[in-house]
Amino acid sequence: MSTLNKKTVEDIEVKGKKVLVRCDFNVKMENGVITSDKRIVASLPTIKYLIDQGAKLILCSHLGRPKGAFDPEFSMAPVAARLSELLGKEVKLASDVVGESAQALAAELQDGDVMLLENVRFEPGETKNDPELSKKFASLAEVYVNDAFGSAHRAHSSTTGVADYLPSAVGYLIQKEIQFIGGALEDPKRPLVAILGGAKVSDKIGVINNLLEKCDKLIIGGGMAYTFFAAQGLNVGNSLVDTENIENAKGMMQKAKDLNKPFLLPVDNMIATKYDVTAPYMTIYSDSIPDGWMGLDIGPVTSELYAKSILDAGTIIWNGPMGVTEMPQFEGGTVSVAKAIAETDAISIIGGGDSAAAIKKLGFADKMSHISTGGGASLEFLEGKELPGIACIDEKE
Ligand code: AMP
Repeated sequence: MSTLNKKTVEDIEVKGKKVLVRCDFNVKMENGVITSDKRIVASLPTIKYLIDQGAKLILCSHLGRPKGAFDPEFSMAPVAARLSELLGKEVKLASDVVGESAQALAAELQDGDVMLLENVRFEPGETKNDPELSKKFASLAEVYVNDAFGSAHRAHSSTTGVADYLPSAVGYLIQKEIQFIGGALEDPKRPLVAILGGAKVSDKIGVINNLLEKCDKLIIGGGMAYTFFAAQGLNVGNSLVDTENIENAKGMMQKAKDLNKPFLLPVDNMIATKYDVTAPYMTIYSDSIPDGWMGLDIGPVTSELYAKSILDAGTIIWNGPMGVTEMPQFEGGTVSVAKAIAETDAISIIGGGDSAAAIKKLGFADKMSHISTGGGASLEFLEGKELPGIACIDEKE
């Protein structure tokens, strides 16, 4: 499936039409108060564009994990209030999802008005992608726009099913994910270099396999490197090893060889006696890790090697930190790689939750071309899986 040909909000006629927009308003809350409105702010470009075009907006999202029935703890009321402030206009909240209140408010909408449905997960059919619920969503509007990338890997009524019954398009957030991640996978500026780190091989097998086929060079760091060392018969001490995936790791190294693709592993490491910020630590070559020690970051020689090996990249996809960035003495590898990426002219794409958080914490966010807004969704995208929330959208003619 190509994702690059999907209709966007700019490809559809919306003036005077009711447009159902699936947003990602799954904000962090504490005691009914929004602690980060980042996701609401990220949705504004699509919402403002549709307002400017004279559409009648019916917004919807899930929030938390209610159990298929109204629960005041998960009401969208705080989101409606924050949205009203950010847009400088009233956003009316329906007291239900697709019931009488939603229908009545939708019927009253004027061009440029905005309303919000209650939490879509108050409807038990939502997560089952129930066609009856999808039809009810569709009956509220004339056009469907999906802009919830973080939920695009889930086939639910409001993310996927509803598109069976309405003309559809993606919003700007999903458009950007498609442009960068879809673009890198389907039509990258070469060489395409993938840098993969993080804790476990098991979480990334699909990503490594898919990227091995698509990329020109694959670079491994983080805790997952030690499973590859173990697969080569090296001593790894107490480093993180995914014993169930040693055979898989061997298979991936063989696949890289068969495809004639460079597959880089750390040549040196920062090791410590314990997973503890106060533990003694030192640098050591990968073939000399002593018993009783564990690798917690790539070493300085590796950092330099990795920096050099991405110099000529056209596109870089990075997922997962090079070391334990939660401890300052083991964030060096991740910082070096981030700096090196920032200094290249390559298109740089950061996928997945933890790497995005590490990049932001270390202050490199504005140096990257694209930081994906979806954790699970971006991993599945990188694995080459079809995302139902994107697959369901109409293609450009
Ligand atoms: P992931 O969610 O797979 O991207 O993994 C991110 C986590 O991997 C972070 O919490 C890091 O602390 C952890 N991590 C990175 N390198 C290592 C390592 N060498 N040993 C243990 N954990 C690591």
